[in-house]
Amino acid sequence: MKFGTFTFQPQKPQGFDFHVLRLKPETGIRLQPVQDMYSNIAVFADNVAVRNHPDWISQSPLGPAKMGNANFNIYWDVVCATQPEHRAEQLDYIAEVDRQSPGICLNSQYFADHDHCTCPRCRELWKKSGLGWLEWRRKEVTDYIAQIREKVKKELILAIQPDPVTSCERYGVDFEDLAKYADAFNVVMFSKNYATPWYWEMLARGFKKLLKKPFYISLYVFGPGDNPKDVPTAAELLTVSVRCARAGADGFLYLTDGASQMLDFQKTAVEQVELRQRLRSFGGQPVQEVLDRVASWEKIVK
Ligand SMILES: [Zn+2]
Repeated sequence: MKFGTFTFQPQKPQGFDFHVLRLKPETGIRLQPVQDMYSNIAVFADNVAVRNHPDWISQSPLGPAKMGNANFNIYWDVVCATQPEHRAEQLDYIAEVDRQSPGICLNSQYFADHDHCTCPRCRELWKKSGLGWLEWRRKEVTDYIAQIREKVKKELILAIQPDPVTSCERYGVDFEDLAKYADAFNVVMFSKNYATPWYWEMLARGFKKLLKKPFYISLYVFGPGDNPKDVPTAAELLTVSVRCARAGADGFLYLTDGASQMLDFQKTAVEQVELRQRLRSFGGQPVQEVLDRVASWEKIVK
């Protein structure tokens, strides 16, 4: 089992196997790659691209993929997934970043959500394809991933939304298709609390059944600008990690703004002495690996 950090700052907290930098998050702002940090790139969710090219935004009968359109789970602006200039520019960017990183970790490499995109170009492409609507969207996503795979010479990790059942209908994402190109998946399970670990464990179990490649689970620890009162507790994070580990997750990515928030998490995790002891009885080897990792942080936080 592997443990990674997922940070907005180019910092490498101690006590983990690898580090993922949010090089180009959904804001569209780009940092400099760091040679020993994986680079995370949001492909179509890109506020800067939409600001510069308002006509590139993904369209639907329920309005555009714009921040504030409450018809969708969208917290940023999303470019149409067939926009040719954006696609080409992102391919070049990914290839360039791949040369400067140990691996590429993508998210938002698919349609914005259900019923996207109905812009004139997408409608035209769909009609010409002779395929059904959902089948056409799936092919658009898969074909683009194949092009990305040709550019990425190192490890390629593909994000998927925490929806094991309707990812194809919503995003054009077919897990079997993507498994042909991905080295691993990253199932994004961000939440401001993990008070009911049963549901997350069930999702992990579902993905274990469906995914043909190893998968990490991203857990939310402390985002930029967060109030400490509004983030998950270390007890919740430990419990959800253990329960997802026993359901088959191959590793975890812990999201923080930077190294200091990660250290705070590690400190409070280490302090959960009774809980750590109790969680030992929750299962076999994977559970013990999570708890051994937390035990290894004792040296770091002192
Ligand atoms: Zn479109």
